[in-house]
Order: sequence, then structure tokens, then C-alpha cells
Amino acid sequence: MNGACAALHRIARRGTVHSCPFDAGALPVNGIYVLFEMGEQSHGGDRIVRVGTHTGVGQLRSRLQQHFVKENKDRSIFRKNIGRCLLNRESDPFLPEWEMDFTTRRAREKAGAAVNTERRRAVEADVTGYMRGAFRFVAFSVDDPAERLRLESRMISTVSACDECSPSSGWLGRHSPKVKIRDSGLWLVNELFKEPLTDVDLQLLAAAVV
Ligand SMILES: [Zn+2]
Repeated sequence: MNGACAALHRIARRGTVHSCPFDAGALPVNGIYVLFEMGEQSHGGDRIVRVGTHTGVGQLRSRLQQHFVKENKDRSIFRKNIGRCLLNRESDPFLPEWEMDFTTRRAREKAGAAVNTERRRAVEADVTGYMRGAFRFVAFSVDDPAERLRLESRMISTVSACDECSPSSGWLGRHSPKVKIRDSGLWLVNELFKEPLTDVDLQLLAAAVV
């Protein structure tokens, strides 16, 4: 398992590393991304802390914008998780409100006057600030939707099962209320510890990294 994970890291580091603000036009339209985070190391270099993809056709760029640009935690569970950690680290009493989902009008109406919009925007800005400063990413071009999901799952499983990929003592995710994030050292809760990458998968990824 560690061998496949080391190979995945080697392949990912061969790609163009993007940081924020990023040029969306330089990214593939369909694909998978891996994130590196400041201070997180493994296999002799930057550690993969998240793997992600998109479902709709041609949505890779907009998916990354939902994480890094658009300040709405309810459209990005990743943003929500970063906010949870920033708030939890400071024992901030705003955390329960941050947990609420305001995607639907009904939810917004239900929460009504209890919603502190100004505070929520401030936390969104803190999340963006952290994300833009801490994360860099590499993309893999994969057009087939089923193949994207299959490879994404196997990449996550491979990294989650690797003994050499563990979080640093100062990793922000250690403040997560989510045990899966704290334990895995990854900004992920799904697809952990399932089927790992095969040699053939690694060859596909080596050809797909951009
Ligand atoms: Zn590893």
C-alpha cells in the first residue's frame, strides 16, 4: 500500500502545481485534483491531504472555484470542514450556527432572525484566507465520469491506508469535530480504506497528470 501511495505522490508532484488565485483556463475541463497543504509532508515531499473530483460534465474548474473562490460553505463541504476547524480551535460559540445549512429558502426562513449573516461572512472570509494561503493543487485530466469516480475512490483509499502519510502535530484538521478527518489526516470522510490503486491505475494517472 505504501508503495502505491509513494508512486501516487511521485506522479502528482510531476504535475503543474497551482496556487490561488489560479488561472482556471490552465486546468483541464474534466478531471481529478489532489491538494497539498503547507506544513504537511510525506514520501520526501508535499503530502496529499485531499483528493476530489466533480460529477457534471466540464465542471472541474467551477468545482475548484466553489472551494477556493465562492464564499458559500453550503456548496462546498470542504469549506465547511475548514471553517469547523478554525472555529473549534478557538472554542468559538459560532460553530453550531456554522453547522446549519442555508441552501434552501425554507432553511433560511426557518433559521430566520437567529442567523448572524455578518459573522458567517467573516468566517467565510477566514476560510478563504486559510485556503488560499495553505493549499496548492495538481490536476489530472480524466474525461470519463465513471473513471473519474473510480480513480478518485482508489486514490483516497490508497492515501488513507498508507502508514507514511500522517498529519503533522500542527495540522489544522486535528481540530475537526469529524473523527474521520482527525484519524485519516485527510480532508475527507468518504471512500476511505476501500479498494487501493493498482499498477494499471497508476499508469493511467501518470498519463493523466497535467
Ligand atoms: Zn502515503
